[in-house]
Amino acid sequence: LKVSLQGVVRNQTVRELDPNKPMIALTFDDGPHWTNTKKVVDLLVEYNARSTFFMLGTRVEELPGVVQYVKDAGQEVASHTYSHKDLANISEEEFWSEIRKTNEAIYAAIGENPVYLRPPYGSRNEFVMSHMPMVVVCWNVDSEDWKSKDRDTIVKQVMKDAGDGKIVLLHDIHTFTAEAVEQLLPKLIAAGYQIVTVEELFYYKGVEAVPGVVYHSSYN
Ligand code: ZN
Repeated sequence: LKVSLQGVVRNQTVRELDPNKPMIALTFDDGPHWTNTKKVVDLLVEYNARSTFFMLGTRVEELPGVVQYVKDAGQEVASHTYSHKDLANISEEEFWSEIRKTNEAIYAAIGENPVYLRPPYGSRNEFVMSHMPMVVVCWNVDSEDWKSKDRDTIVKQVMKDAGDGKIVLLHDIHTFTAEAVEQLLPKLIAAGYQIVTVEELFYYKGVEAVPGVVYHSSYN
């Protein structure tokens, strides 16, 4: 897969997957976290699954080794801005600094620039969308993990709303979320899902993925 994005050449590997079987993208925000991110990654590897991790630049700077661990496990590293600011309510200068500093931190950790960005709180405005140099990825399944803080409730919530082409919001900084992932992976696989990165989802579903558009799933 090779896509040119505002001068940035993407050449990321996508696995060979069955295009006729359903796909779901589990995505993890607010990390990396020293123990829970690794736990989630190890589970994904165990189930031959891949996910996208939307990381905060501040945490990437603190834990570059965990970012490398995520990448080495075949997982996808993406941006969740530098310091989790609401992009719709900051100055132009701050906006660019939130984007740039995160990409620099990720590049310093793994030698690659991220392609995808998830704005904190999903928040954006016209300025953000018209200037954003990255592909904006939100979600259409909310695990509400931070709210319930309960493994079984998180599992139930995700299984209830799961569907082909959907993007699920989770947070790999919490122990209860890592525990939920342990239950979710076999359940989703038993239900026929292939657990994929955003890149794989877009590739197999034929999504062009351009800056200036918000993606909530493979079909909107
Ligand atoms: Zn967040």
